[in-house]
Amino acid sequence: MHLTDKNKVYTLLKMIEEVQDYAIILLDKEGIIQNWNSGAKKIKGYHSDEIIGKNFSLFYTHEDQLNKKHLKLLEQATKNGRASDTGWRVKKDGTWFWGNITITAIHNEMNEVIGFGKLTRDLTEFKKNELAKALKARELKIKELEQFTYIASHDLQEPLRTVSNYIQIIEEDYGAFLDQQGKEYLSIIDQAAMRMKALVSGLLDHSRLGIKSKTTSVDLNEILKATLTDLKSLIESKKATVHYPKNLPNIIGYKVELHQLFLNLITNAIKFTNDNIAPIIIIGCEKRMNHWEFSIQDNGIGINSKNFDKIFNIFQRTEETLHYKGYGLGLAHCKKIVELHNGRIWVESVIDQGSTFYFNLLSQTNE
Ligand code: ADP
Repeated sequence: MHLTDKNKVYTLLKMIEEVQDYAIILLDKEGIIQNWNSGAKKIKGYHSDEIIGKNFSLFYTHEDQLNKKHLKLLEQATKNGRASDTGWRVKKDGTWFWGNITITAIHNEMNEVIGFGKLTRDLTEFKKNELAKALKARELKIKELEQFTYIASHDLQEPLRTVSNYIQIIEEDYGAFLDQQGKEYLSIIDQAAMRMKALVSGLLDHSRLGIKSKTTSVDLNEILKATLTDLKSLIESKKATVHYPKNLPNIIGYKVELHQLFLNLITNAIKFTNDNIAPIIIIGCEKRMNHWEFSIQDNGIGINSKNFDKIFNIFQRTEETLHYKGYGLGLAHCKKIVELHNGRIWVESVIDQGSTFYFNLLSQTNE
């Protein structure tokens, strides 16, 4: 028995209709959905009655829609006969899937484009595996780097201790034989050794952040209260005023590190002011979609925008503030602490008007 052309076309259409692993969609020239197979229903979640007549742009993320990605793909397919793309797409229930699509132009006898055939493959599982592998590799690298930093800074302490001890011995046993210049040289070596000690111990503290701690439910009201108690004498000596909300949330996090985060940011807000201006610090806390956004605003010397990222790197300080005491560690600690909580930290600032440091922490409990 031979298949007629009609049989062949019918069989092909039936296969297209029933294939499950591909979404096969017929679009008109404007991208309006004309037909839809069962694979499309499986991948995108719409029944054909709900989707036919709608523009295919609704599978695109808000950002892609704003960038008119769907229209650009149709233009490309019109021009070249075919367009393909891989990226996140949106299902009926709002969840995303990683889709690989090919759009092919359909022409009439006059070679005019009259519509498009669109084929979509759901590669979410593949993408998830890829992301998980990349994440694992990154975690391993970070762990390795942290171990290296820990070992390096730990082992550097011993020879430094020896240098400091011998400086002391020279001062005590041979101080009487040194002239003024000799004493000055010794004092420079001593200061350099002390500075190096502080840097090494700062590096060690940095690599230890979060290592031995466990997450618990943390009451941020308590943390802020304890921080302000720690800073009582600095606040009084600088005549600073600190305004803060009375009902901060509880969050799941690392208690000791969160204390350090508030302590570093509020200390900086008080420290980086001109002597003739009494610091006014305003602490804010706003609920966002799935996190809390905190802000610590000061009326201090401000930061040049070219340094907004740099100051969060370890040992980085700005030229304008070299006369203030410090090693450029506080904000690097803050960044690591916020990232331990899967959050983000950033700054906005205007020179001579003040700075606002923002960070967010996931809201998970007892809001
Ligand atoms: P340190 O205070 O030890 O210098 P930090 O890491 O806390 O180190 O800060 C890094 C640099 O960022 C500081 O040297 C300073 O230049 C700048 N900075 C931090 N906080 C403020 C602030 N509130 N106002 C102005 N500059 C700031």
